[in-house]
Amino acid sequence: MAIATHQQGVKAIATLTQDPLVQLYVPKTLVQQDNALHYDNSLKEHLASIWEKNRAFVFCLATGAVVRLIAPLLKNKAEDPAVVVVDAQGDYVISLCAGHEGQADLLTQLIANQIGATAIITGASHSLSLPAIDILGFTYGWRKGEGDWTGAMAAVAKQGKVQVIQEAGSTLWQEQLPPQHPFHFGFSNPQEEIKPQARIWISPTKRKIAPQNDFPKVQWHPKVLWVGIGCERNTSSELIETAIDETCQTYHLAKEAIAGIASIDLKSDEEGMIEVCQRRNLIFKTFTAEQLDPVDVPTPSEVVKQEVGTPSVAEAAAILAGENLLVSKQIFKSDHQPGAVTIAIAQAAQEYIGHTGKLYLVGIGPGNLNQITPAAKTAIAQADLVIGYQLYIDLIQSLKRPGQIFESSPITQEQKRALRAIELAQWGLTVAVVSSGDCGIYGMAGLVLEELQNMGWNGKTPQVQVFPGISALQSAASRVGAPLMHDFCAISLSDLLTPWEMIQKRLNAAASGDFITALYNPRSQTRTQQIVTAQEIFSQHRPADTPVAIVHGAYRDDEQVILTTLDQMLSQPIDMLTTVIIGNTTTRNHAEWMITPRGYLGFAPEGK
Ligand code: SAH
Repeated sequence: MAIATHQQGVKAIATLTQDPLVQLYVPKTLVQQDNALHYDNSLKEHLASIWEKNRAFVFCLATGAVVRLIAPLLKNKAEDPAVVVVDAQGDYVISLCAGHEGQADLLTQLIANQIGATAIITGASHSLSLPAIDILGFTYGWRKGEGDWTGAMAAVAKQGKVQVIQEAGSTLWQEQLPPQHPFHFGFSNPQEEIKPQARIWISPTKRKIAPQNDFPKVQWHPKVLWVGIGCERNTSSELIETAIDETCQTYHLAKEAIAGIASIDLKSDEEGMIEVCQRRNLIFKTFTAEQLDPVDVPTPSEVVKQEVGTPSVAEAAAILAGENLLVSKQIFKSDHQPGAVTIAIAQAAQEYIGHTGKLYLVGIGPGNLNQITPAAKTAIAQADLVIGYQLYIDLIQSLKRPGQIFESSPITQEQKRALRAIELAQWGLTVAVVSSGDCGIYGMAGLVLEELQNMGWNGKTPQVQVFPGISALQSAASRVGAPLMHDFCAISLSDLLTPWEMIQKRLNAAASGDFITALYNPRSQTRTQQIVTAQEIFSQHRPADTPVAIVHGAYRDDEQVILTTLDQMLSQPIDMLTTVIIGNTTTRNHAEWMITPRGYLGFAPEGK
């Protein structure tokens, strides 16, 4: 939801309001805007009428006015929508309210990327480049438990020592904390001088936190628990809930840590279980008797085996869903409720996230952040995890949000990287796979899609989106003028993945077809002959003085641009970070420029 009260504001956020998901409201007095709705009453009344229904508000008006408008509507951090303010020039985007749970900080960053503005985020954790502890686990689907969240957040803001005891859930978040982070992992040594100022438990266990304690404590519950359930037909949902709750209480387990219920497929229509799953937002997994039968359980029953074909339902289903059995079979009956329930609980090694993962295949352009598209920047900002070759990850370091994970791997590990990205997306994370230039031109996009295809991907889950980037042939061309103005092609000289005969065939075809040709991967330390052969092939079809551009590291700090000719090109430095552009028979040099005529000024004579 966006609100602008003046024409200039409408313009400032125009890129944003082009998105069909963003509804723009303007006052009646403002001339009709495309896609905009008018509000009839005062803005205050209008806002009150739409406040509850929207998760985010972007205002393009004075911050003071926004503060007055929203003040009567604010409730608390957990419920308030994100409130973001953009100045009339579109220079600044301010995260005003609900920065963490309402995700105003993230929205601010995204809008700033989109409209090319500076993001202003004033929360303490953001300023300290730390993941905010009150939203730390949302990425991994963790649920918040009891605790003094405000107190713990204040301890972080004061840069006090924060003890973290993590007994379950992903530790990815721990891997990329800034050097000066306040977290201390594990139990503190009694001899340690600095006492913690706050403690975070990350565990399926529920700790009782006394209100008057020495320092603030909070708990996150990763969804690692699977409740195996067997029950008589028509057991009430109330009895099932009581059974779950009492078992959790007895074993000090947090209900928030329950990922789902597991049972036998005969129970897939058992209303009580379905109701409990709906009410508590739990997954319902079922297994066949054949799957459950061989599972080794502590309390098998012959009677059950006779009835349903497996000696255990609750324990076996819990183990199949969660692996590590924590609570063996408990039986519950009630005088007031119909039916009987057996419960067992197992803990899975990995938490159930519960979001649908996404894969963003992103081209980051040649290297300078000015050359990356706003959409690609937005995709990177939205990702939970960004994965790529070390050099490219380094190039986009400045885009990293606090708490975001940037994973890099060596250059030869493309397949491993693709599989890792897919695995994380299948688990539920939003993963951006970055390639330099365009991700679909000798980049990671094809590999990721091929791997997905091999896995029998349905084309939808995980969701895939490809973000194009400026490829090396474009960035190299732009440094010398307009060499690609006519039909052109790209050929990679790397024979690691393509047989050399095929490359030679294509070089011949490109040369004889008079295509302007951009050579990628022209020469490595060990692969030095290919460029020599390429030059020979082109020399058979084009004059010796055909212009050639040799561009190393376009738009990077070590950029080097050489304009030469076909007969001289091999005496120039050429390496793996170079793109070589060989002109066609009409390409000319003019001063420091390389120009291929398009034909506007008449056909250029072929071969001069
Ligand atoms: N996906 C990339 C290409 C990756 S293949 C893209 O679309 O640009 C790697 C090759 O790209 C390098 O060997 C080099 O030939 C070329 N390349 C990548 N970045 C470059 C840059 N900044 N300047 C010149 N060439 C570059």
